[in-house]
Amino acid sequence: MIVQPVQNDAEEYSKEDISDLFRDSPCLQGLLAESKARGTATNTILLKKLTNGGLIDIVSAASGKGFRRKERTVVIFEEPSAYDAIDEGDQIKLGMNRSATTWNRKTIIGGTPIYPDDKTHQWFKKGDQQYRYLPCPHCGEYQVLRWEQMRKEGEDAGKYECENCHELIGYARLRWMDEHGGWACPLGLDRSQQILKDGYPRVRSRHIWAAYSYHAGAEWGNLVSEYQEALEMMRKGDTDSMQTFHNTVLGVPWEDTITGKLNVEGLSQRRQDAGVGNGYPADVVPNGVLVLTAGVDVQGGGGAMAERLVVTIWGWGRGEEGWHVGHFEIDGDPQQVETLNQLDAVLETKWKREDGAELQIALGGIDDGGYATHEVRDWCRTRVGRWVPMKGSESKGKPLIGKGVPVNINRKNQSVIKKGVLMYPVGYETSIQHLQGRLRQEKPGPGYLHFGEAATDQFLAELFPWKKMPKKGAGKREYKWDKPTGSRDEAGDCTRMAYAALQLVARRYSRATMWDQLERLIEAQRLSSVGLGGKRRPRRRVFDLQS
Ligand SMILES: [Zn+2]
Repeated sequence: MIVQPVQNDAEEYSKEDISDLFRDSPCLQGLLAESKARGTATNTILLKKLTNGGLIDIVSAASGKGFRRKERTVVIFEEPSAYDAIDEGDQIKLGMNRSATTWNRKTIIGGTPIYPDDKTHQWFKKGDQQYRYLPCPHCGEYQVLRWEQMRKEGEDAGKYECENCHELIGYARLRWMDEHGGWACPLGLDRSQQILKDGYPRVRSRHIWAAYSYHAGAEWGNLVSEYQEALEMMRKGDTDSMQTFHNTVLGVPWEDTITGKLNVEGLSQRRQDAGVGNGYPADVVPNGVLVLTAGVDVQGGGGAMAERLVVTIWGWGRGEEGWHVGHFEIDGDPQQVETLNQLDAVLETKWKREDGAELQIALGGIDDGGYATHEVRDWCRTRVGRWVPMKGSESKGKPLIGKGVPVNINRKNQSVIKKGVLMYPVGYETSIQHLQGRLRQEKPGPGYLHFGEAATDQFLAELFPWKKMPKKGAGKREYKWDKPTGSRDEAGDCTRMAYAALQLVARRYSRATMWDQLERLIEAQRLSSVGLGGKRRPRRRVFDLQS
């Protein structure tokens, strides 16, 4: 049984690789039934019965269907990093169960690691981690080919420098080197994750990359050119080519040094950095904040996730510098108006800035893309200009926030309200890319995002879970933002909506003077509240952050 990421991969693999293999390998010729029999039960695209009694079936990892009621001796997984989550569970486990009753079973996993600790990378680490050692044609020293040793510039570009004698080696020597090469485990690797059986590794794993390939496209000079192009793209801010190079040429997971810090460890370090205005207490709104917006994720509709609203509040100042102000959940069924009504209290809450000025949320965006769509729309209909329904737009090239689209409201047992409310599409790719750009900024000032104590570890873990994953079915390697299986993204979704809401608020102002106007407004309010009998009105905090 061979498992491919999606149906299309499975079919192409059958039509191209399998057919070629049986045609070109002398020992396999004649085993595959004649092509005229195709379409019958013995030789279909995805199931091939061989004339020697063998059987090959090719299944797609995108559905659990292919894993049912089968017994297979050898199960082969291709590109497991690209498998999507399915209800039935982990495909590798499902597939291995198919061979559980055979005495001579074997599981083979082959793939390109995409990001650290994805399925391919994990299985490599579970094994004994062998690398291929080749002898230097000059001094004979055995070594693993490493990209660092490749000359990348000048007339020696594409030549390999021996790490022992430092002589240069040309690509033409590769075949000789490989013929004298062998597999071994480097010393000093962490093998603590290995699964052992009788003291020996139960999982064998080997790493290989393009420099070992005889394929003309992998000639060392070509690899260097590809690298130079990726470097050039990266200077322009586009990291996709460099990720492709790391994933497909070097065969290693990709995470650039900054993206690697957008996890809970990296971000909580930022939260502690009081020197650049982070780490403020949970009930403090820093003075730089001139406007507040909210983003609300709607959860429910079965599954493990409890029914609730997840609310994130961000404060924004000049140059869209951002301060995280609050993150909390409202328990209850979002289909019930009582649950949504609690958001009114959130909007009415007066948030006190450090200097005493009081701020209220200018606008909130609520996700109407999943659960309780029509209840959310109906609720927003009577709160125009305060709460707006937003929906993620997956298609490529969509703006961060689009024009409002009049949408129907179709609540259960009620008549349809045609074009009852404006819904705002939020570009999925664009807004994630934007958030990443913001989080990559490490110097406070315009565009920087601050975190105080209200940003819990859980919040920070959910803020940027997305990884660049190869797009399935795309001929040339393209990447898109994807959420790894099992990770949560509510904090990130709410933040993207809160930022989209800021963009809608900005449409009410002239871009050039928006921050001046907001500042004057807040100052006037602050003075007038002081002027009223010389004392400020009591602070009304309807919504308690700590609850
Ligand atoms: Zn040497």
